[in-house]
Amino acid sequence: MAGSLRTEAIVLRSIRYGEADRVLHVFTPGHGRLSAIAKGVRRARSRFGARLEPFFHIRVILHQGRSDLHTVTSVDTVAAHASLRDHAATLDAAARACDAVGRLFETPDPHPEVFRLLANELALLDIDAGNARPANGLAFRLKLLLVAGILPQLGSCAGCGESEHLQGFSAALGGVVCNSCEAAAFPLCQEAHGFLVGALGRPLAQTPDASEFALAQAERAITETAEHHAHVRLRPLMSAARGHSPVAGLASGPA
Ligand SMILES: [Zn+2]
Repeated sequence: MAGSLRTEAIVLRSIRYGEADRVLHVFTPGHGRLSAIAKGVRRARSRFGARLEPFFHIRVILHQGRSDLHTVTSVDTVAAHASLRDHAATLDAAARACDAVGRLFETPDPHPEVFRLLANELALLDIDAGNARPANGLAFRLKLLLVAGILPQLGSCAGCGESEHLQGFSAALGGVVCNSCEAAAFPLCQEAHGFLVGALGRPLAQTPDASEFALAQAERAITETAEHHAHVRLRPLMSAARGHSPVAGLASGPA
């Protein structure tokens, strides 16, 4: 990939550098996550304008020098997602989505499906602030696990293959587990299981809703899967909800 690279990109992070520059982390369809420097971008009369802020979907030309750090030479806006910036909830959801992509897909490998998923998520947050709800963020993460090749088994027990009495989740075993295999599992209620299956099977825009209790369990399944199989720690989506969830009361199954 020497010379110039012309690509679509989404700005994941933008870090001040020196007096007037920014170092960007961008996600591209064909080259995954890349780092690039935008020189002079913080000057009032920069030719880049505000197009290199986080969450911008851009068309960009990057020049590759001798290091891994590319240089931005040209930028066009595909989608600014201006409405997304009007609400703290949508800004936060967008930041968490970009963070999850950056952590799960940190190499320059091609992942066009991740790019489309992130572009779709940002567009949904821009169109309707209601899409900042936790169910949507969890569905997004679940789809990232699918692309990363670490989707948990949801249809039958990951321990023994049993398809009934599925009432726990074990990241170590790789999915839902039955009541005979639940030794290393935490309880996963039917509603949480149903949410995982439903969220995976539908487009992001049609993500089903669920109770806070079930969503907290679904988040735990997703978070522990990412930790166990990709060694990636995702930022909590529902930490407030988890604080008072009665999960502990259900943790003691039959001995
Ligand atoms: Zn089993």
